[in-house]
Amino acid sequence: MTSYFLGVDLGSTTAKAAIVDENAALVGSSVVQMGAVSRQGMRRAIDAALGQAGLEAGDIARIVGTGYGRRLVPGVDRTFTEITCHARGVVEWQPDAGLVIDIGGQDSKAITIDALGLVDEFAMNDRCASGTGRFFEVLARALECEVQEIGALALRGSADLEVSSMCATFAETEIVSLVAEGADPADIAASVHRAVAARILGLVSLVGKRTPVVLTGGVAKNPGAVEFLARALDATLIVPREPQITGAFGAALLARDAAEPSTRGEPLPLISATGATTDCGRCAVPAGRGLLD
Ligand code: ADP
Repeated sequence: MTSYFLGVDLGSTTAKAAIVDENAALVGSSVVQMGAVSRQGMRRAIDAALGQAGLEAGDIARIVGTGYGRRLVPGVDRTFTEITCHARGVVEWQPDAGLVIDIGGQDSKAITIDALGLVDEFAMNDRCASGTGRFFEVLARALECEVQEIGALALRGSADLEVSSMCATFAETEIVSLVAEGADPADIAASVHRAVAARILGLVSLVGKRTPVVLTGGVAKNPGAVEFLARALDATLIVPREPQITGAFGAALLARDAAEPSTRGEPLPLISATGATTDCGRCAVPAGRGLLD
């Protein structure tokens, strides 16, 4: 009988679930938009992934949780940080990956991967919205369009407008002023994308650029973010087919790894990393070591 493994990534804005079989093949996945971290959103994500795989809850052998709400996952056998899970998921898709950049709704991370496919170092920005999906949501709101449209708009503009504030609160006011002055929305979108890419470049500089670079998280679905970040990094970015479920996929793989210690080894060696968190310097939160569980 085939065994199945469930990974659940309860993020700040979305709940993701992924199911793999014993051969590490992805058999079902889902992304559910939530207002805030919610058990209901997570339940819907799990049910949708089970439905897509044609499975029932009783068919799942092990469950690993990740993301902000990882401890809320019902029946969870083990939890890992998103850093560990994104690295695990990426290495399955791109075994020679050197750097993972994950840009989610409220944080962004740069993770270096060593030659064994293990996490080396990471840097994380979870202190301010700049360089996260939230910043693109602010931009979309100010330009009165959907966040799904903002990347294509940016690709049509030229990026030479000055965006001085990288604080989401002030940037929104600045963007609205630019609109009022008659600036082309495409140029505004392009300029903000360029500024966000510069911010991510700063995060990458904390761990060092390595190639191949893989971009994960919901923002990897934004073609403008991909293009401007590739330019800032001067590197080609590899985007998985379903970048937003990378953490859930990695969690499902870690559940599977643990079930087969003789062939896959314990997942614990992934936790070899040192890390730092970062902020813009204005929120008075000191940078510190990241914690991996
Ligand atoms: P989290 O795990 O923190 O909930 P996600 O990795 O799910 O975050 O990313 C959510 C972000 O992804 C949103 O803030 C949004 O900016 C971006 N996003 C999601 N889907 C799309 C899309 N189709 N096009 C552009 N951006 C998207």
